[in-house]
Parts: sequence; C-alpha cells; structure tokens
Amino acid sequence: MSETPTLPLEALSLSITQYVVCSKCADELAHLNPPQSLQDYAAMDVGFTEYGVQVWCRRHKANIVHIDFQGAKLPADFRRLETS
Ligand SMILES: [Zn+2]
Repeated sequence: MSETPTLPLEALSLSITQYVVCSKCADELAHLNPPQSLQDYAAMDVGFTEYGVQVWCRRHKANIVHIDFQGAKLPADFRRLETS
C-alpha cells in the first residue's frame, strides 16, 4: 500500500454510494419489531487479509464479501478527517 495520499480531501468524508450488507441481516431486519436501521443492526468486521479486504458478519459468523486484490498493491488513504 502506498503511504502517499492519492485522494482529494473531500473523499475522506462519507462517500459511500453503495453499502455492503449481509443478506441474512437484511432478511431478519425486515421482520423486526420495533423496526431498526440496518446500520444499528449490522455487526461487521472489515479488515485486510492475505488476499485483499474481507467484510465479515459478526452476527452470522459469515463472509459477506472478500475482495481479491490478486496481488495488486492499491493506494489506500488512512488520513482521518474528523466530523462532528
Ligand atoms: Zn448477518
């Protein structure tokens, strides 16, 4: 991973256009009473692996997605932008 930031500063704000969700959590959520947001219900771990990045559902102890970098060294920006 590159140590030099490559993204514009505004990209460090919430820029997610498509959320990653556990399909089992989403199914259970549809039947919860009282209703709960997926953000509050989901319990995910996200981290690097020897292949790339894995998103893991802690609630169901299951893989949600494992992105294979196929050996590519991609730039990553770990600068922290505090929002209030
Ligand atoms: Zn789940």
